[in-house]
Amino acid sequence: MRSIIIQSLLYGSLTFGIWIALLYGFIHHNHVSNLEKKTQEPALIWSLEKKLHRQVTHDSEQMPRPYVRFVRPDEDETKERKPVLKFSKDFNYSSSEFVDGFLKYGFNTILSKSLGSEREVPDTRDKRCFQNHYPTNLPTASVVICFHNEEFHALLRTVFSVINLTPHHFLEEIILIDDLSDSDDLKDKLDYHLEIFRGKIKLIRNKKREGLIRSRMVGASRASGDVLVFLDSHCEVNKVWLEPLLQAVAKDPKMVVCPLIDVIDSMTLEYWPSPVVRGAFNWHLQFKWDHVFSYEMDGPEGPTRPIRSPAMAGGIFAINRHFFNEIRQYDKGMNLWGAENLELSLRIWMCGGQLFILPCSRVGHVSKHRPPNQPELTKAMTYNSLRLVHVWLDE
Ligand code: UDP
Ligand code: MN
Repeated sequence: MRSIIIQSLLYGSLTFGIWIALLYGFIHHNHVSNLEKKTQEPALIWSLEKKLHRQVTHDSEQMPRPYVRFVRPDEDETKERKPVLKFSKDFNYSSSEFVDGFLKYGFNTILSKSLGSEREVPDTRDKRCFQNHYPTNLPTASVVICFHNEEFHALLRTVFSVINLTPHHFLEEIILIDDLSDSDDLKDKLDYHLEIFRGKIKLIRNKKREGLIRSRMVGASRASGDVLVFLDSHCEVNKVWLEPLLQAVAKDPKMVVCPLIDVIDSMTLEYWPSPVVRGAFNWHLQFKWDHVFSYEMDGPEGPTRPIRSPAMAGGIFAINRHFFNEIRQYDKGMNLWGAENLELSLRIWMCGGQLFILPCSRVGHVSKHRPPNQPELTKAMTYNSLRLVHVWLDE
């Protein structure tokens, strides 16, 4: 009996030992092969993608790329943009005329020329906007457009679309400020083409290059409408674009409003509707579009409801002229281009105003492609951003 117990104990411990050994072997093997896996596949990621990714992120942390001003919600501003050149059979993308125009103006100037000064664009408003009715006694608007070497036809389309789609009793005037352009067709030829609107259009020519900030201030100082409406020089307004803006400013003079900015494709010049978005910015002080939550569009107004917006894109907005003066307009020490949109946004919110995007007002804007190396603009953007930081942000 005793020997049986001893034998069973011996066999028991032997089996236990074998199991432990097998278990150890199994765990060890797994561990090694896991280690092998880890050192094999990420080697690729590490050496290529991660390194690239880190480089891109690192670069973008050092210096915001000034030529990418608007980033859509689903675009990642740290990623390089993919080339957009699509080759189609019926367009000669290699002609020197196309290439020169694209490099100079950032969009397809051959198509722009063939479109001429007027065209119809699709009505991109939500159907619910059609039910809105606007009073006939809204305040008047001075439309202020500054330009520097703008492509002739894009500028004309901006002006003609405003004339064609704005009830004339709301349109006090259009004020054009030429920021020392040197293109020949923006001189006498432009005067000649605007002649038919004499009385409705003022054309001011800067004696020195002022940049868009001071140019807009020059325009504002010559305006006499109740509301200032700023546009870039490559826009096309849509149906009933102005009335929602004027109505909002009439209701609350401290309310600054932007239309929803539709996209005019730089290559095809097609007019595309934009989703309802709001303006925001990141800590590189780059402007970007941000998502609007679905619950914000749940009510009876749906996607036509005004959207509170921390920031504006800058080129297109309406502001009560007295309120603009009250908040001291722009920072006139800023140069050329850049960061003025965020500076004004902060100024509005911090001086008792509000900023909204009104989805029932639609204006198309050519999303230009800027050449990457523009040291003058980079310098201005950095300088302007630093001014903004010193004035409006804490430590
Ligand atoms: N602009 C100007 N002077 C300058 C730079 C720009 O008058 O020194 C004008 C430009 O022609 C355009 C507007 O300012 O009408 C906004 O510039 P842009 O469209 O290049 O800026 P973005 O659309 O990228 O904000
Ligand atoms: Mn623009």
